[in-house]
Amino acid sequence: MLTYTGKCHCGQTEWEVVTDDKIEGHILCHCSACKKLSGGEYTLNIVVPKDQCKLTKGELKEYVYKGDSGNEVICYYCPNCTTHPWHHQKVQGEKFVVRSGLLEGADSFGVFGEVYGKERWSFQPGVAKDLA
Ligand SMILES: [Zn+2]
Ligand SMILES: [Zn+2]
Repeated sequence: MLTYTGKCHCGQTEWEVVTDDKIEGHILCHCSACKKLSGGEYTLNIVVPKDQCKLTKGELKEYVYKGDSGNEVICYYCPNCTTHPWHHQKVQGEKFVVRSGLLEGADSFGVFGEVYGKERWSFQPGVAKDLA
């Protein structure tokens, strides 16, 4: 088991994510919700059992929207600076989608794959295999 830590921009919230093995790489998500929520062309993510994601400082607020499947997606964010450490797609059961770019050491994780490539903007080259 490995423990990765993260903290928000303002420092009011901090968290830990435990993985069974070394992170195999970020999953780039090009969906329209990620673009809106991040202001970027894609987000960096890993999928982790939710009981392995722990807030260690502060409190998070929830923003809920309906995903493509029609199921709710609950985004957890710092109420002060809006950094978003993870979200819960109800369709994924007991797993959280963790914003892996916010974890300490994120620069060294590499890229595992990409999702929502059909919504990738034209200036953005594909950098890894398409997973969905
Ligand atoms: Zn914050
Ligand atoms: Zn997305």
